[in-house]
Amino acid sequence: MNCPQCNYDGFEERVNDNLTPMKICRQCGLRNEAGSDKWFDGDKEFIPTPMCDKLAKMDTQRLVLHEFLEWLDQQKISLAGYEGHTMYPITKSHEEIVFKFLGIDERVLESERKKLMESIR
Ligand SMILES: [Zn+2]
Repeated sequence: MNCPQCNYDGFEERVNDNLTPMKICRQCGLRNEAGSDKWFDGDKEFIPTPMCDKLAKMDTQRLVLHEFLEWLDQQKISLAGYEGHTMYPITKSHEEIVFKFLGIDERVLESERKKLMESIR
């Protein structure tokens, strides 16, 4: 398996003071105690957010796509869908269209953000 924080594939196996086996990432030091699905970075629990990370990496593309959709609006060009020979207007928001194109699941994104917020409290 790879480290959920840095994606590095290399762990040091150790036992802690209570003789619980632990895995420690050789690259970033993230650690996991056997029998637990939680990871810790120092004293702080690490909350994996793969969808947020994916979105963060696509920031530039996301901005360009938004600019493009806004430009279409300014040019009075609108998107339409069609079924057979019938066309219908696309009423989705720019964000919905951009997320769909980038493969970002908004519900997963929300649940990751919620978990992050709860971990801060
Ligand atoms: Zn790591």
